[in-house]
Amino acid sequence: MPIIAANFKTNHTRASTAKYISLVNNYLKTNSTSEVYIFPTATSLDEYETVLNLSIGVQNAYPTKKGSFTGEIGTEQLDEFFIKTILIGHSERRHILGETQEAIAQKFQYFKELGYKIIYCIGEPLEVKEQGLQSTLEYLWEQLVGIDTTYDKLILAYEPVWAIGTGVTATVEDISNIHNAIKKEINKPLLYGGSVNFGNIEKICAIPNVDGALIGTASWVAEDFIKIIETTKEL
Ligand code: PEP
Repeated sequence: MPIIAANFKTNHTRASTAKYISLVNNYLKTNSTSEVYIFPTATSLDEYETVLNLSIGVQNAYPTKKGSFTGEIGTEQLDEFFIKTILIGHSERRHILGETQEAIAQKFQYFKELGYKIIYCIGEPLEVKEQGLQSTLEYLWEQLVGIDTTYDKLILAYEPVWAIGTGVTATVEDISNIHNAIKKEINKPLLYGGSVNFGNIEKICAIPNVDGALIGTASWVAEDFIKIIETTKEL
């Protein structure tokens, strides 16, 4: 059963998110056994009607219940909507927002202790990829420092930075090499992310040791996302 996740990043309003979730939920009611996650913007979180295999998660939160952390949200705000799923370590937070591995590991520990389902992202920039597989793997292991990879509610996502939002997907060989190496060390569901779309999802999800996909751009239209879920449901 594949795991398919939609990352809205800074897209959609409350109104369009509600419509989107309702469409996906209606589809899942009768059509699919895939495990599906949707990560809307923080302002679009709400108490949505969802089937068992659909979870709404938060793209980011501060490791606190509440307090003086201007611009952040804590678990008190998430509890209002029964959110128990979080994305941690996304490359845009690492590279654009400047989150350090230390801060990421602290965040992981905090949400782990509260029993959140965590989709934890790792991925190398282009200059590291160009140094070869060994360097790439060393870079990825660094992104796992301080992370409890035995946590039972952990899903990993391998997302090469150069493939995110660029339209350039990693090759089957690249994905295969990295996923096999990660799976040898860590026995957790492992998603691929990076320019996954309706045209390539089947090929990517058919690669051994790929357990599903984390999708940004190609997930933002509900009908497209539903087509992606439909395509992968037999895999
Ligand atoms: C992402 O944001 O996690 C992602 C994979 O984006 P995209 O699908 O647009 O490459």
